[in-house]
Amino acid sequence: MQIIRFEVGDTVELKKPHPCGTKEFKILRVGSEMRVVCLGCGRDMNVDRIKLEKATKRILSSETAEKGTAGIPSKD
Ligand SMILES: [Zn+2]
Repeated sequence: MQIIRFEVGDTVELKKPHPCGTKEFKILRVGSEMRVVCLGCGRDMNVDRIKLEKATKRILSSETAEKGTAGIPSKD
């Protein structure tokens, strides 16, 4: 199984939809326990990382991907 690298700000698509019908969640906090918010209804919840890895279909977008390898985002 592929290891998924979750990062704060990522939007992930899960295999099973939330009761509101949305499969997309945004990651608010990472760790052994993750915090995600449903993009459909705005409800946030804590999920074990293992459970989230198994439930994740794919990562839709990553805010950190745009920063490249510089590491530090520039501010105007
Ligand atoms: Zn929802």
